[in-house]
Order: sequence, then structure tokens, then C-alpha cells
Amino acid sequence: MPIRFDDRVAIVTGAGAGLGRSHAMLLASRGAKVVVNDPGGAVDGRGGQHAVADKVVAEIEAAGGQAVANYNSVADMASAQGIIDTAMNTWGRCDILVNNAGILRDKAFNNMTMEDFEFTVQVHFYGTVYCTKAAWPIMRQQNYGRIVVTTSGSGTVGNFGQSNYGAAKMAVNGLINVLRLEGAKYNILCNAISPSARTRMTEALLPPHMLQYMRPEFVSPAVAWLCSEECDANGEIIAATAGNYARVQYFQSEGVQFDPDQPVTIEMVADKIDQIRDLSKAKPYTGLMGTVEESLRRMGKIG
Ligand code: NAD
Repeated sequence: MPIRFDDRVAIVTGAGAGLGRSHAMLLASRGAKVVVNDPGGAVDGRGGQHAVADKVVAEIEAAGGQAVANYNSVADMASAQGIIDTAMNTWGRCDILVNNAGILRDKAFNNMTMEDFEFTVQVHFYGTVYCTKAAWPIMRQQNYGRIVVTTSGSGTVGNFGQSNYGAAKMAVNGLINVLRLEGAKYNILCNAISPSARTRMTEALLPPHMLQYMRPEFVSPAVAWLCSEECDANGEIIAATAGNYARVQYFQSEGVQFDPDQPVTIEMVADKIDQIRDLSKAKPYTGLMGTVEESLRRMGKIG
């Protein structure tokens, strides 16, 4: 059965170019009515031109789909509210929110201005928070929602010169870890995409021999599945690039358990540090409490 989005209203932020454009085109091609949000502007978020969103709307309409442009920035609560209002005023629903808008202001941390740090966090993290906050009560009320945030390997593993970006990209994962719990009973699922694709943002950064395979169109099917009724993931991170799809998860080593009735010294930690850091028997990290309780029960410390 083909996966479709008929009668669903989707918002894709930063949909005027790159990945967002590709997500919007795919969702629209499967029946979604799409708000194409994008104020335009350079990779660093300066400037702006409505033409980018208009062009994608025209492309969707030419292919027989339905779309409306919105030129608001995600980086301000009132402006983000306006993006969700466009969906409500045009079609009266808001089923899908793909938080994709992004910028880069790379510099080594030593040389980075706080303005560049804060603005990058403002767009990636607060932009995601603002749009999600505006969509949340609507999704709760209609008992349906699919939210995707866009994270990055720059946060998960780090990338030189991207302290602002990497921090913001990890923050969105923290957000969905909580929202997945709060949204579940309202059938609101919150997941993350960790993409890698050739766009104006990454063209100069990606390995040249890989570029031919790193099309945004390889990322969008994973985003669309996370946005679908068929999706049963919640709080997961899916990495997608060049036709390769995988789940990203935190792991925790087996570690050590000292007797908590006795003091623990620095030297005791130092003596066991290899065992603490050894990932050979690592298991998915599900929060410390479960593991510690189990370990203390085994020692007979708790009932
Ligand atoms: P892109 O520059 O082609 O697209 C980003 C779009 O976001 C642009 O059209 C831009 O105008 C828009 N935008 C910027 N500031 C905005 C704001 N305040 N409000 C609304 N829209 C705004 O880059 P892309 O590679 O397509 O990036 C899309 C997302 O994917 C970003 O969040 C980026 O960080 C993330 N990402 C991309 C890659 C990759 O390999 N391309 C890797 C990891 C994460």
C-alpha cells in the first residue's frame, strides 16, 4: 500500500531550498497540503527574498499538488506562530511539522562572537521550540501530530568550528526525548532526522567523491515515513544519506558498581577507569535509574 498524506496538512520550515524543498515536494506528491515556509536569505541567515518559497510552491502546484508560501522566520515566537497560523487559516489543520530551517555561522570557538553563537541557537533550537510550541495545542486537540526535528552529526560526534551549531542540534534531541513522553497519549509522535546531503550549506564541506550520491531526495523518504500515520517510532533518531538509513542511539557501558555504603575515592575510579569506559558489553542507554537499581538489588543493598 502506498503511503499517502491525503487530508493532512504539513508545515516544512526552511522549505525554499535544499532538504526542506525536497521534503515539501515529496509530501505534496503524496497528497499533503504543504505550507512552504522560508524567508530566503544567505546560508548565514542574513538577507531574505520571498522568491525561494514562491518557487517551491509553483513547483508543487505544477506537479498537481497543493501548497501555500509563508515567509516568516522561525527564530521568533510571534513569527513562528504566524507559520502555524498560515496552515490553520488556509486549511484549518496542522498535522505534520518538519522543523528543518537552518543556518551556519561557523568559526572556531575561540573566535566566535556570542552574537553568532546565539543567533545560530536561536534559529535551530529556539526556532524548533517556537514552531513546535505553536503547533502543539492544535495537535493535542485533534489527537494527531507528527513532528520531526533536524539534528546533525555535528552535534552527535562534533565538527570543528561548529560549537554553536552542534550544541543547537543536540538540544533538539533533548526536546523530543521529553515531548515523546508528553505527546504519546495524544498520538503526537516526535522524532529526529540526522541528514547528510549535498545542499548549498554543505557543498564545500562534504567529500567530493561522495557528492554524486548525496542528494536531498535520499533523506526525504525517511522524513516522510516519520510524518506518516504508519510511523510507530517515537523519540528516535534516524540517520539518512546516500540511500543509507540507520537508527542512532546512545549506549552505556557495563561499568562498575562500588559498595555505596562505603566512600568512593578518586583512586578507585582511576583503577577501574578502563572497565568504566569499555563499550564491548554496552547496552542501549535507557536512563541510569533502571541499571543502578538492578545493580544495587543484585548486591542485596535494596529490596
Ligand atoms: P539550506 O541552506 O539549503 O536550507 C536551509 C533553509 O532554511 C534555507 O532555504 C534558508 O533560507 C532557511 N532558513 C534559514 N533561516 C531561517 C529562518 N530563521 N526561518 C525559516 N527558514 C530559514 O540547507 P540544508 O542543508 O537543506 O539544511 C536543512 C536542515 O538540515 C538544516 O537544519 C541543517 O542544519 C540540517 N542539516 C543538513 C545537513 C546536510 O548535510 N545538508 C546535515 C545535517 C543537518
